[in-house]
This record gives sequence, C-alpha cells and structure tokens, in this order.
Amino acid sequence: MLYTSSVPSLYIHFPFCKSRCAYCDFYSCSLAQLKADRDKIFRDYGDKIIQQNSLLSHEFGIKDYSTVYLGGGTPSLYSLKELERIFAALKLLPEEREITIEVNPESLDSARLREYGRLGINRISMGVQSLDEKVLKAMGRISGREQALQSVQLLKGWKEGTWSADFIFAYPGQDKKSQLEDLRQFLALEPPHFSFYSLTVEEGTALHRRLEGGQLTLPDDEEMEQAWEEALIMIKQAGYERYEISSFCREEKYSQHNLAYWNSHDWIGLGPAAASKMGGRRFTGKDLDSFLASEEQNLLSRGDFYQEEILSREDILAEEIMMGLRTKWGIGKERLESYLSFDDFSLLLASTLKKWQRRLVLDRSGLRLTSSGLDWHSAVMVDLLLDLDKFFDYNTSL
Ligand code: SF4
Repeated sequence: MLYTSSVPSLYIHFPFCKSRCAYCDFYSCSLAQLKADRDKIFRDYGDKIIQQNSLLSHEFGIKDYSTVYLGGGTPSLYSLKELERIFAALKLLPEEREITIEVNPESLDSARLREYGRLGINRISMGVQSLDEKVLKAMGRISGREQALQSVQLLKGWKEGTWSADFIFAYPGQDKKSQLEDLRQFLALEPPHFSFYSLTVEEGTALHRRLEGGQLTLPDDEEMEQAWEEALIMIKQAGYERYEISSFCREEKYSQHNLAYWNSHDWIGLGPAAASKMGGRRFTGKDLDSFLASEEQNLLSRGDFYQEEILSREDILAEEIMMGLRTKWGIGKERLESYLSFDDFSLLLASTLKKWQRRLVLDRSGLRLTSSGLDWHSAVMVDLLLDLDKFFDYNTSL
C-alpha cells in the first residue's frame, strides 16, 4: 500500500497559463505576453526538456522513472504534438507506473483526453477550486462553474485512467455556510481523489495586494475552524480517506507521485523553476528565458541554470520528518533508525511527545501524527525542529 521505490520520480514543469489566477504564485508566464510565436516557443521548449533530461539522466545514471507528473502552469495548454515528441524521446512508454497531467477545465476536451490516454497518461488532476461562481470570479479563474461541471463529466467517462481535482478552502468571500455548500456540491461529483487546500496567501500575488489594500477580507478564523471540522466529517461520511493533510481518496487511489515526495524519494525536475532532489542536493531551475537560452553544460546539475542547495544531515532528517508527517503513515521506524536508534529518538523527542500526546505518536512502527494531529502539523514541526537543533548542536560530528 505504501509507495516505496529507489527509482527517482520525474516532474516536468509547463510554465504557460492563459492568465494569472489571483492567489497563485507558481512560476508561469501568460501565453499572450510571450514574445516569439507560440508554436516556436513550444517547439524550443520541447527541445530543451529533451536535452535537459538526457543530460541529467546521464549524469545521475537514471534508466527510468517510477512516477511522472506533468505540472504547471497549465500543461493542458501545451501542444499535443510536442508532448508526444517529449514522451517518445524520454521513452515514457505506457506501463504500470502513474503518469499524471494537470489540466484546467477550459483547456480540456474529449479529443485531448483521448490523446492523453494514447500517450500513456493514466491520471488527470484538474483545478476546479470552487463551484461557486462568485468565488471563481474573485479567484480570477477562466472557467466558470458550468465549464468545470462539463469537464468533470468528461473525466468521469474517461476509460484510460483515474482523476483527481483540486479544491480551495476559505477563499475571501466564503463563509461557513457557503463553503460547506460548495463542498457538498463538489463531493456530489464523486472524484476518486481530491486535494482540499486551505488557502495560503502568498506575497506578490494579486490576492495579497487586494487583502493589503482592504478590497478583500479573509473569512473569520473561528467560523472557518468550525467549517473545517464539519467539512472533514462530510468528507468522511462521503467515504473518503484522509491520507495526507490536504489529500483524500476512495479505494486507496493515493497519488503515487506525491507519495514519492512525502516519502522523501529522489526526483528530477525538468523545466524552469522546477526543483530536483538527488541525494543530499537540491537544484532549482531559473526562469523561462534562461531555460531557453541555456547552453548544454549549464543544464547539468551544477550548471548556471540552477540555484543549488547542499543539504546537511540535519536538513535531510528534518525534511524527511516534515514531509513524512504530512501523511497518516508518518515516517517509518527503519527510516528513523538510519539516523538514530529508536531509544535515542524516544529520549530526544520525549518532551515534544508529552506536549502533543494524542496528536503525535512514536511507536514500533515509527513517528506519525494521529488523525486529529494532522491539523497541527506546523505547530508540532516547530517543536520537533527545536529538538533536532539541540541534538545536532551537541553532536556536530553527525
Ligand atoms: S492556478 Fe494554475 S492556471 Fe491559475 S495561474 Fe496558477 S498555474 Fe496558472
């Protein structure tokens, strides 16, 4: 059930959007603002992705990828012909592995869906975000409610794979009643998997500016806390398992690619702003112009195209714990013991475990948050990071 693999995953970023949504800080460019013509950009982009993959696979001796995720941006805006060329060059053959593509409702139709199936894509993740017309408008989403519903119908009839949808909690304009009604309508669509995110207001976004300028206000905290609790009950009653802080599914349709991240496996990220993590190194690509202009040697992992971060042993352990605790399984005992003995961990975390009893558990299967503890992930992590700091400060040789 729990995904494990020593083969890295692959992420390919497609930084193209029709327009920017108010809340989004992912790296993407508006298609209308691109200087060269679209076909040429898509072709050049395909060439660079193929080149970057070939250089990095050779450098790290990668023969294959365990899961593949095409994210963005809006990958469903990208040319099918170019996508096919990338799939052929990277030898992403239809197999048993999960291959996901993110789509938006307005750029999905039945022909595109068929082509995705033919390429071997077996999972679609659609940005629905809300079914409330007013909220969708405030978010700056291109597609309205009707378009989202039509695209969901297409996904429900898709034979080649499964699908997931993203939904946002507590956007300005929502209150407890409207949020729960929105969720009720969303659950009626019966997505096999969905991500239900609490809104994070990122600096530099239009949403942040509107909140700062007083044109918008966030929903009341206390009211939304109650809404969240009721939402979790509704979701459970609808037969969904909460297997990660924001991820829910039926019939164990877990996102294998995200599990690779949460289990701290290695991955290669291709394209601008895409991060890779290989061993104790993380390197993150720069912007689209740098990507398209990069000479071959600069796409190797130590090339100028990236910002590099060398992770210390403490960083790696902290990240493994932080990512692992996002899931209901937590981080396994064997993983913990590759750093410290179980008894040492018990001693090190004793006061934090006491403070968070009933929310944080350390036992013979590992360290994990309980179902009520998942909502306290950030606060628990603050204490765990202090514990790790203390330990590594006294044990500098580790
Ligand atoms: S939410 Fe998606 S479609 Fe909207 S700007 Fe961000 S990446 Fe583009």
